[in-house]
Amino acid sequence: MAGNWKMYKTPAETTAFFEKFRPLVAQSQHCEIVICPPFVDLAAAVECARSTAIGVGAQNIGWASEGAFTGEISGAMLRAIGATHAIVGHSERRQYFGETDQTVLQRTQAALEFVLTPIVCVGERLEEREAGHTDEVLTRQFQAGIAGLTEQEFARIVIAYEPVWAIGTGKTATPEIAADAHRTIRNQARTKFGRTAGDSVRILYGGSVKPDNVKSLMAQPEIDGVLVGGASLDPVSFASIVNF
Ligand code: PEP
Repeated sequence: MAGNWKMYKTPAETTAFFEKFRPLVAQSQHCEIVICPPFVDLAAAVECARSTAIGVGAQNIGWASEGAFTGEISGAMLRAIGATHAIVGHSERRQYFGETDQTVLQRTQAALEFVLTPIVCVGERLEEREAGHTDEVLTRQFQAGIAGLTEQEFARIVIAYEPVWAIGTGKTATPEIAADAHRTIRNQARTKFGRTAGDSVRILYGGSVKPDNVKSLMAQPEIDGVLVGGASLDPVSFASIVNF
């Protein structure tokens, strides 16, 4: 159960979040919990998550380990600060910051090199769904991005299916629509990396997940977890998603 805070919260607000959130999920042992705050909040989040089972992730990761890449943060830096995960290829990065399937692959490899778990996002835009191109888009994103990994690398990633039309819009994919897309992704994974690898990879659903729809989404065997934006900003709401 992963939270993506996008560009919200200061370090002080991060600490305040964890003070409320930690006791609410203290008993939960059924799942992995990860919170991905902005870069400047990572140190505060890591400090607050110390001696809990909560992981802390970045929302992006540079593909080089260091160098002349103004504005980028490397895997080495993330690792040094105590991060455990990195979101890669979020649709907002693809849409506003020129992220491509090729850079998604490079960033995923960088995360793996620095022993971070990449949460690799894929998903179709509204016009692509309406034109009946969802499977084609997911296949292209898989083939041009994820398929460039080795089998050993693939075994260490998490995939997030995030239909762009459902992100921050209040429109959730129905559990059936989400499960269909997850099957498409899983079939790609089976074909490329073998049945066992395809069966084992965790695929999260993301797009307007809230406390009142998480149960029906998670009832689909194809959905292994959720990546939550807006509803992860409030400790009570994210805790009720985690504890559904
Ligand atoms: C996200 O940012 O990854 C996301 C799924 O956002 P929201 O839950 O707000 O739709």
